[in-house]
Amino acid sequence: METLSLDRLGDEIAELSAHVDAATASSASSTPARAGTPDFARAAWLSWRVGLDLGAARERVRVARALGTLPLLAQALARGELSYAKVRALTRVATPETEERLLTVGRGGTADHVERIVRGWRRVDRKAEDVEVTRRHASRSLHVYQDGDGMVILRGRLAPEVGAVLVQALSAAREALYQQARGKDADAWPAGVSAETSRRLAGDASRVVMRHGLDGRVVEVAARTRTIPPALRRALHHRDRGCRFPGCGVRFGQGHHIHHWAQGGPTTLSNLPLLCRRHHRAVHEEGYQLDRQPDGELCFRCPDGQLLPEVPRAPQVFGDPVKILRARHQAEGLVLRAQTATPGWLGERLDVGWAIDVLHPSALESSPFSACQSKRTIGTRP
Ligand SMILES: [Zn+2]
Ligand SMILES: [Zn+2]
Repeated sequence: METLSLDRLGDEIAELSAHVDAATASSASSTPARAGTPDFARAAWLSWRVGLDLGAARERVRVARALGTLPLLAQALARGELSYAKVRALTRVATPETEERLLTVGRGGTADHVERIVRGWRRVDRKAEDVEVTRRHASRSLHVYQDGDGMVILRGRLAPEVGAVLVQALSAAREALYQQARGKDADAWPAGVSAETSRRLAGDASRVVMRHGLDGRVVEVAARTRTIPPALRRALHHRDRGCRFPGCGVRFGQGHHIHHWAQGGPTTLSNLPLLCRRHHRAVHEEGYQLDRQPDGELCFRCPDGQLLPEVPRAPQVFGDPVKILRARHQAEGLVLRAQTATPGWLGERLDVGWAIDVLHPSALESSPFSACQSKRTIGTRP
């Protein structure tokens, strides 16, 4: 009698888990974002609105993106046949070419089997990468020389990370040259910042003024130009520590004039919150608004004027969430049972090395096992 009710309870848990996994599939694929929204912004939104920790949110976004090109795994998750944990592991290695084979692994094995096979798979991938890195390392070169007319010629083949540093250095140098040229004809500072005391800052002499309160605290930093000089930018980063848009958390940003420079808005610490590039665009081009309240706090609003709170309201669930989920899936024609996600595994010992030998494409090339064997197996030796 007791065994029977325990079995029933187990079935209920298994069936409910399948519902939760199927629901995870639809929520992962429908995270609202505009086209071109970078993954970190999507993850930050999930963390802000849904309450996932940032690591889990990043994984959710990565999995959703990977499933965009892996329809078989996406369907298996949406039908509750594969758990989210299995799909998360499989998407670390799956490609459209290997997806079908890896789906068999997911269906046949437990979550632990899947995790171990994926780890073995990545080891083989890394070995192949090492071979590729060695090949690229051998083909590196860089030539810098002066041509007959004095022009400097650069020609080379660099490792991606070295190339990225070079490109960054070049664009920083270009920006520095541009700012130098601009600084020569910067706008004059409009009528006065009254100050108890003020001092000019080394490095930005004549361009930045700091105002201190009676207690000696810095209460304002002001520049005479629309562009934000380095000292003010440092103060801005120190104060805001990243983008101030609710739920963003990106550490790098640009100063945004709350009151626009063209309308008399000054380049001062109080008129400049830090916004990441994505949210700076949202404010300038997508109708998001922000103001600084009299108490110094920032207030963000959606394009429709609704307040965008720092911490969102908890979602309201009306009724029994389990009943709601079941009813929703029933309406969608999704039939989920206690056995829906049960693996085909019958207790055999998993031989990871053998499994990789019959499943991994690069191992397959030199493997004595045939393709038909790889279709049959989930990684357990017959
Ligand atoms: Zn701006
Ligand atoms: Zn941001």
